[in-house]
Amino acid sequence: MKVAFCYSSKKFLIDDIPKPQINGDEILVKVMACGICGSDIKKIFDDKVKKPIVLGHEVAGDVVEIGSNVKDFKIGNRVVVTHHVPCCNCQYCKHENYSMCRQFKSTNIYPGGFSQFIRVPKENVSVGTLKIDKKVSYEEASFSEPLACCLYSLGKINLFLRDFVVIIGLGTIGLLFYQLIKMNKAIPIGIDIDENRVDFAKKFGFDFALNPNKENITEEILNITKGIGADLVILTAVNKKILNQSLSYIRDGGKIIIFAGAIKKEIAKININELYRREISIIGSYSSSPKHLSRALKLISHGDIDVKSLTTRRFPLEEIEKSVELIVNRKAYKIIIEPWS
Ligand SMILES: [Zn+2]
Ligand SMILES: [Zn+2]
Repeated sequence: MKVAFCYSSKKFLIDDIPKPQINGDEILVKVMACGICGSDIKKIFDDKVKKPIVLGHEVAGDVVEIGSNVKDFKIGNRVVVTHHVPCCNCQYCKHENYSMCRQFKSTNIYPGGFSQFIRVPKENVSVGTLKIDKKVSYEEASFSEPLACCLYSLGKINLFLRDFVVIIGLGTIGLLFYQLIKMNKAIPIGIDIDENRVDFAKKFGFDFALNPNKENITEEILNITKGIGADLVILTAVNKKILNQSLSYIRDGGKIIIFAGAIKKEIAKININELYRREISIIGSYSSSPKHLSRALKLISHGDIDVKSLTTRRFPLEEIEKSVELIVNRKAYKIIIEPWS
């Protein structure tokens, strides 16, 4: 089968390797669509991530082989598969820190989504694999994973009617957050340094979309929120400057969600007394859980979340290098890799 090995940001090699063998508790899935995630891009550029590596975890496809003990799936089922699954029993899981669960960190699909087939281990078969409704395309279903991550992070806070939510970064994740925040009847304020993305966000429906290179966003956000500041800030793009600046427009008692890792390992200086006196919470949110994956797939299947307008391009495995370049240069929102095209 064909697999895309990543050697570096500028070098992917398509190789032929044997199709994975499955045991009695596993299934084999033919990958029909796999989205390129921001975290894939970070891994591509991170020298600490061992290469070559097969990336890709936003997977949708067909069940083509099943182990003799597998009861819940049949050959031909269309499914989404999540790569990490928690045990749902440990101290982390009890507190809903599912992505901190040690099993979560150790489970994975093999060899990765940028491949024609993947082996799905027992743990992932039991809670991390969901059947897709007939009317939902593979491509739409592959958005379940990123949407689940957004749901997971919003699960960490209480959003009230007409709360002001600042979304930093108007890429795919920013546009998914926008829709969830609107569903909660709160008010999103989008921020991006890329004018094209600011324009697209306005067309997408944002009442407020600002470019920090053109506007004083602290002043604008304070104006919009009548001097109080934003209730919640979601950082889908983050560095120390962005983090510190968010303290200037968040309201007292507000919450900041760190949704993505910083590209460079950065140390931010933060005024501890400001966090204390102003009761600011900074919350990390990493990945998602099966519960959120299932909610995400339902929202997509019911048409409550529009993912169709977020796919910019579809490419075969052979064009993954070009796809990465398009994403890095912000020339595309979501790119879907189709290993069988
Ligand atoms: Zn992802
Ligand atoms: Zn656990």
